[in-house]
Amino acid sequence: MRDFGYQRAHDVPGAVALLGADPDARYLGGGTNLVDLMKTGVERPALLVDVRELPLDGIESTDDGGLRIGATVTNSDLAAHPEVRCRYPALAEAVLAGASGQLRNMATVGGNLLQRTRCGYFTDLSKPCNKRTPGSGCSAVRGEHHNHAILGATAHCVAIHPSDMGVALAAFDAVVTYETVDGPGQLPLAEFYLPVGDTPHLETALPPGALITGITLPPAPVAAHSRYRKVRERASYAFAIGSIAGALDVRDGVVHEVRVALGAVASRPWRARAAERALAGGPATAEAFAAAADAELAAAEPLSGNAYKVTLTRNLVVALLTELAEEATR
Ligand SMILES: Cc1cc2nc3c(=O)[nH]c(=O)nc-3n(C[C@H](O)[C@H](O)[C@H](O)COP(=O)(O)OP(=O)(O)OC[C@H]3O[C@@H](n4cnc5c(N)ncnc54)[C@H](O)[C@@H]3O)c2cc1C
Ligand code: SF4
Repeated sequence: MRDFGYQRAHDVPGAVALLGADPDARYLGGGTNLVDLMKTGVERPALLVDVRELPLDGIESTDDGGLRIGATVTNSDLAAHPEVRCRYPALAEAVLAGASGQLRNMATVGGNLLQRTRCGYFTDLSKPCNKRTPGSGCSAVRGEHHNHAILGATAHCVAIHPSDMGVALAAFDAVVTYETVDGPGQLPLAEFYLPVGDTPHLETALPPGALITGITLPPAPVAAHSRYRKVRERASYAFAIGSIAGALDVRDGVVHEVRVALGAVASRPWRARAAERALAGGPATAEAFAAAADAELAAAEPLSGNAYKVTLTRNLVVALLTELAEEATR
């Protein structure tokens, strides 16, 4: 591991100034991803700016009935918060489905959004990887890719985004707020993660040195009727091979409002807009849910080793929406 400096930031302008002054510096949240990457040599920062003591650890209702979540809120505190559990249950369930209790106690909201892919070649410095070394090639396309992307990928990179939290945030139209030396800014989650294209090393639209200050969830009454489901390869903590955040408002058997976001299928949390369009105003039946899943997955381009994800994801959509529809009629 390269020698590095460490500095604890006590206010937002100070933290942003430190990053602005040193392009080799990185923010340190819980360190549960960054420090691992430093150990393998993928990340080699000269300075870590610890943001955990910044006054960004609050969760509060907004005037319009949404929720503002600070960037240094831990995953554990987020999942346990009564307003989150009551108004956005899929978000609490998604966070609890991720990692272990110890990791969730350390991991922060800002760090979760910016965690890197778990593609094995990304952390194997002996193998080509366009995300780690632009232009070197993608080892996964012809190699091991059983948990890689089926939607929105290109031949330059087929890695998935591993965040569970991000999937629920995508379903609820979260907006990421940040601070830079030039002032504050914000990005809807739909624009926060960049398409893979031929530049998989450029993962987000955040300006260089930007400090994520929090996430704002707009009011979404439908979110109170939401769930998160995750499929993984072992019962103990593990990353998803498929996941879904769904919310459904059914009136007289008709879909009044629906939200669907998918995980472990793309380089970013995947909002299933085609499925939502297919369902809006139609019957809340298992057949309609299956047709909606097919509408979304028509764009899927699986590789030889991950075609199972198409069926798995279709089943997740049907199962979760059916469960939500049944609840709505009780
Ligand atoms: C064994 C294991 C299992 C896991 N399982 C899961 C799982 O099932 N599901 C899941 O979703 N996740 C899982 N994780 C990942 C875990 O959720 C992430 O490591 C964690 O959320 C990252 O948060 P952090 O605060 O520790 O980030 P850090 O490691 O501190 O930082 C990650 C990145 O974010 C940047 N950063 C941090 N805070 C800010 C900020 N405020 N502004 C700008 N940049 C910032 C850092 O510079 C770094 O680039 C697992 C991790 C481990 C080690
Ligand atoms: S899928 Fe992406 S992260 Fe994995 S080897 Fe290919 S370029 Fe690298």
